[in-house]
Amino acid sequence: MAAHVLDGKAMAQSVRDGLRGRVATGQASGQPVRLDAVIASADRAAHLYAENQAKHCADVGIEYHLHRLPADASFDEVAGRVLLLNQDEQVGAIMVHLPLPGGVDAERVQGLIDPDKDVEGVNPANIGRVVYGRRSLVPCTALAALELIESTGITLRGACCVVVGASNIVGKPLAVLLMREEATVLSTNKHTKGICAIAAQADVLVAAAGVPGLVTREWVKPGAVIVDVGINRVTGPDGRARTVGDVSPDVGDVAGWMTPVPGGVGPMTVAMLLRNTVEACMGPA
Ligand code: NAD
Repeated sequence: MAAHVLDGKAMAQSVRDGLRGRVATGQASGQPVRLDAVIASADRAAHLYAENQAKHCADVGIEYHLHRLPADASFDEVAGRVLLLNQDEQVGAIMVHLPLPGGVDAERVQGLIDPDKDVEGVNPANIGRVVYGRRSLVPCTALAALELIESTGITLRGACCVVVGASNIVGKPLAVLLMREEATVLSTNKHTKGICAIAAQADVLVAAAGVPGLVTREWVKPGAVIVDVGINRVTGPDGRARTVGDVSPDVGDVAGWMTPVPGGVGPMTVAMLLRNTVEACMGPA
């Protein structure tokens, strides 16, 4: 039987619908919700992402302020802007677009963002709060993956969850979020031996490696929940570029649930950024 599709676009729409009323209430009571984003890059993809964000913010009534710095800005210029935004009481939510200019240490910049305004959850202080189970702003893609998993109704306590990929921004925080749910979590990476057999035990398998088609049907326990975080540009047999995930499409014959690419984790990641923005400005719902 074909896997149920976890429709990230529809879920993201319902998250946005839920946020719209809250944002309107904030505006009406003089508590505007705004997101300030810093960009210092000529990278086309970064600018497209910023445009997309502006559109989604407008859709739910969030003010979006894009601070454009030169593509060759220095560390001091980027850091200086972040520190100004930290101090500005009108600003409740901050994010810094990547890539930053060569020579500007992105992790150092991220570490300067006020943890309470850090809507991408990239300040190590927020990662630490995630580990300790405290209220915090959680990295958006990890949060998106967790929401998609939970939407299946699976009981995570005691479930075997395998996370393929252990980056600071996706794999590691997601593994910690799943541990917080008292799942049995196996974090794997490119050096993991026998990864196919490990994955095949999983009730929940998350692919976040950035390797097109890495997860094939041999990796999948029948009925498992499969979340594909990968976004890979490949050239198809017709010579045209397209976006594929880390999971081979034939996994759909074995899995119980599966996210599509595109249309799965991607739209939910943007929705989680909006939700984090509302929570940073107005507090938790
Ligand atoms: P990364 O390069 O920082 O980390 C990749 C991780 O995967 C590493 O831990 C590495 O050891 C592991 N890995 C690589 N090859 C492997 C293999 N063959 N087997 C097992 N593990 C392997 O990547 P990232 O920033 O975490 O991104 C991962 C993927 O997720 C990319 O395709 C990226 O584009 C995508 N992504 C999607 C979203 C979204 O919103 N959907 C957001 C962030 C990243």
